[in-house]
Amino acid sequence: MPESVSSVRRFQMRRIVAKFGGTSMGSADAMRKASAIVRSVDGEVIVVVSAVTGTTDALIALGNTAVEGGDWEVLAGRIKERHRMLVRELDLDLHQQLSVLLDEMWSICRVVAQFGELGPSVLDRLLSLGERLSATIFAEHLVVDGVNAEMVDAFDLIATDRQFGCANVDFPVTNSRTAGVLFPMITNSVIPVVTGFIGQSNAPHRYTTLGRGGSDYSAAIIAAAMDATELQIWTDVDGMFTADPRVIPGATVLTQLSYAEAGELAYFGAKVLHPKTIKPAIEREIPVRILNTFNAAAPGTLINSEECASIKSITSKKGITVVNLVSLGMLDAHGFLAKIFTAFARHEVIVDVVSTSEVSVSVTVDRKVSSALVEELRTFATVDEPETGMAIVCVVGEGLRTQPEVLGRLFSAVGPVPVSMVSQGASKRNVTFVVAERDARRVVAQVFHEFFESDPTL
Ligand code: ADP
Ligand code: ASP
Ligand code: MG
Repeated sequence: MPESVSSVRRFQMRRIVAKFGGTSMGSADAMRKASAIVRSVDGEVIVVVSAVTGTTDALIALGNTAVEGGDWEVLAGRIKERHRMLVRELDLDLHQQLSVLLDEMWSICRVVAQFGELGPSVLDRLLSLGERLSATIFAEHLVVDGVNAEMVDAFDLIATDRQFGCANVDFPVTNSRTAGVLFPMITNSVIPVVTGFIGQSNAPHRYTTLGRGGSDYSAAIIAAAMDATELQIWTDVDGMFTADPRVIPGATVLTQLSYAEAGELAYFGAKVLHPKTIKPAIEREIPVRILNTFNAAAPGTLINSEECASIKSITSKKGITVVNLVSLGMLDAHGFLAKIFTAFARHEVIVDVVSTSEVSVSVTVDRKVSSALVEELRTFATVDEPETGMAIVCVVGEGLRTQPEVLGRLFSAVGPVPVSMVSQGASKRNVTFVVAERDARRVVAQVFHEFFESDPTL
């Protein structure tokens, strides 16, 4: 961080960006807890919210049902009733505002059903309703609780390209729009309640979304634009655990992680944090804290630039496809790897893990590989049918870099499970194994046992 920013920050009052996830918006009781948290902040606060839990999935199902000519009105009715019930339970007077949003949902679906077409920009507009509904309800709930709060649509803050479903952010425009809208609010002691997940594409101006789970990213973007002193991710677990606590019941909360470790864990499947969240935070050196809305007194996990040598966590990501390319005598030829990556880039497929030998290259991607891509790769290499149904298991920690004996323990812990690929990132903070999906849970449990149950000193 430049000296000028850090010295300003030393004298700056606390400015918290507090993001509440889907479960924290998921019931009247959860919203009451979230409200108590907002009211307890000592300093300025900007709230960012996800849709009520399950709503984004429900909106996707709604769009698909409408386009397939199914009975979409039943699904729309369920979404409407869920939000109306929240409003009733919280005793809010929001009939008019909710009707406007629900009417928009109905009109979109009517057009989709009529023309039998659901383009990506229409889908993003439909999905934006999840966060617009939850932010409207939560802002009004805060007002009733005595807080001077106002709903802000991130459509007016976050500028993106037109990659609907996973839009890329235009940071210079976003930073100035966000500061232009939010600074006057906080200066006038108004707490903004901003919709996560959504943005606005440049000409034509349409709703876009930032990718599933993207509200964490929205909050990080806003924290960076507003030079926040802390980004708080309020969720339904006590912090980042040594493994997904829903998969490994013995997993424990980590008190601290480096930005790099958190980034690796998020990228390789720790759903508690969206993978893009860390970058804006690192750039402005904003500490990130993962906290539990339902256990607000717990200290949570702090993510900052401090590095400490240990093994931190094990994560896994399913739905992986492995592509194996063999080309005798080609690997030492100039440009072979470049050709491979150019082909993947041309088909807009992001490669996750790579491992090479003298005659072969294996790469993983987190989606199905199209036959057009395979055909293109076959013009310069022998390519087997891509292996689907695979999983990445990733072990993360600064200790992998500094304690070489850890690698031996790791390999013996994976034991007899067939491994398709092994890779250690250049940072040496992670080791990834690619195994069949059906073996992933077992591998996570075995590695977890080795590092966190048999010898907890590491
Ligand atoms: P939110 O709706 O608050 O954004 P998410 O469902 O996106 O919450 O993320 C929280 C979930 O992430 C937890 O319920 C937990 O099951 C899962 N998770 C996966 N890996 C981890 C991990 N290493 N530590 C904590 N939670 C994890
Ligand atoms: N509502 C969006 C989703 O379910 C974004 C989020 O929850 O972060 O993916
Ligand atoms: Mg999430």
